[in-house]
Amino acid sequence: MVGAGAVVSRDVLDYELVYGNPAKCRGHICRCAQKLDFDSSGLSLCSCGLRYHLENGKVCPS
Ligand SMILES: [Zn+2]
Repeated sequence: MVGAGAVVSRDVLDYELVYGNPAKCRGHICRCAQKLDFDSSGLSLCSCGLRYHLENGKVCPS
């Protein structure tokens, strides 16, 4: 997902939230567009019920 007004100069990874100029990664979002918070073990459970984990810095659905 890319925020309004963002100048994207590179590929945006799945579930990555970028905005700004230049666009930077500001966090990660769920498929339902809610922000994801990862715990220290790299796991995140969205309030919609979807689970994600971090793999080499990339967000992957669990
Ligand atoms: Zn969700």
